[in-house]
Amino acid sequence: MRFMPLKQSFSNFLHLMISSPYNVQRTWQIEQQCPQCGAPVILDETERLFLCGYCRTKLYLASAGPFRYYIPPPLPDRGILFIPYWRLKGLAYRMADLEFQNRFVDTNILALDTAGPPTSLGLRPQAMKLRFVSAKTEGRFLATGRLPREAASRFDTDGRPTHLTEQSYIGETVSIIYAPVYLEGNFLHDAILRKPLPDCGKEARNTLLTLPNAAPWQVRFVSTLCPHCGWDMEGERDALVMTCRNCSSAWSCDEEEFRPVPFHYLKSPSEAFIYLPFWRLSARFEGVPMDSIADLIRLGNLPRVATPALEAAPVHFWSPAFKVNPALFIRWARQMTVFQPDETAMGNLPKVPAHPVTLPLCEAFETIPITMASIAANKRMFLAGLPDVRIHPGESRLVYHPFVLRQNELVHATMGLTVDRRALSFGGFL
Ligand SMILES: [Zn+2]
Ligand SMILES: [Zn+2]
Repeated sequence: MRFMPLKQSFSNFLHLMISSPYNVQRTWQIEQQCPQCGAPVILDETERLFLCGYCRTKLYLASAGPFRYYIPPPLPDRGILFIPYWRLKGLAYRMADLEFQNRFVDTNILALDTAGPPTSLGLRPQAMKLRFVSAKTEGRFLATGRLPREAASRFDTDGRPTHLTEQSYIGETVSIIYAPVYLEGNFLHDAILRKPLPDCGKEARNTLLTLPNAAPWQVRFVSTLCPHCGWDMEGERDALVMTCRNCSSAWSCDEEEFRPVPFHYLKSPSEAFIYLPFWRLSARFEGVPMDSIADLIRLGNLPRVATPALEAAPVHFWSPAFKVNPALFIRWARQMTVFQPDETAMGNLPKVPAHPVTLPLCEAFETIPITMASIAANKRMFLAGLPDVRIHPGESRLVYHPFVLRQNELVHATMGLTVDRRALSFGGFL
């Protein structure tokens, strides 16, 4: 997992995007041949488990950097040039007038510094089955130019141009999608519509044709056997963490292999109905005092006494490790961080189900400034100081919290947090 110091370049706006394969959103489908038997398998964009219905092969999909897809051109034998687009999808938070605003983002944005190709692919990728880019794909794939954050900061959360460049902050990119064009006569043509690109004149065409190629990329298939004991690991199709029931271990897959994830289950005073995963995060702060629970108490003017013991007690930030609606997400991050749960470790995986981890750790770290802003008693002062704040991610741990069922609500077994069970995108899981 790669971490970078969080860039804070905003003043009155706090704008975060975390990826969200949320049910209400549009998803894309990818067609991929089974590497064992060659049968075609259709995957949803968010799925990481590759399951072949013919030969029962089960593999995990991994990638060095963002996943790369392409829209297959109907005539693959022409000299196809593939134009890159950043695929951005997630929850966006923005702070304006000291109030949080949130919404879903689901858009794609041209990933080149050159004007000419359409700035967005619109809805087209949903209408067609995509494929993973591979070394065997015919055509020339252009390297991405501007970074996703720079590209995205030029647009608001609906993909319309905006002028928030200086004040916005955007989280992870989900993937890159390539759209095919070809040269015919003097004009670049859209290979799907087979029409000239409308705003692509001679100059833009010449620039595009001289842009560098993308480095080779290939989706990676990783065995789902436990790296520790060889047992078949468990996980939902979109799970980012796989678990082994045999040796009680948890694993997340980075670029090419599974690595152990430190985790534990919290003890439940009554029998839990389900466990929900949360990331527990430590970080080093520059530009704001945040070394202890006492610092947190002062930030939020919390009704607790900052005792000498709390001056020495390390502070943890918490984030749901799964996708829920943006308002609930930030409420839980805030409440758990304020609460600083007292943790009692448990050894084995319990019998009751655990909700899959669908929010990656790197995105969880990016929620820290949002959580701090929502806790801060003096939001104006906190936001004014944010441009000088640097947050360096430190240790992390996955902690499963027990929830009991009360009518239609899930209630945290010790903290009393509640959620309507329908608010979780279980997808028929409950
Ligand atoms: Zn197969
Ligand atoms: Zn194992």
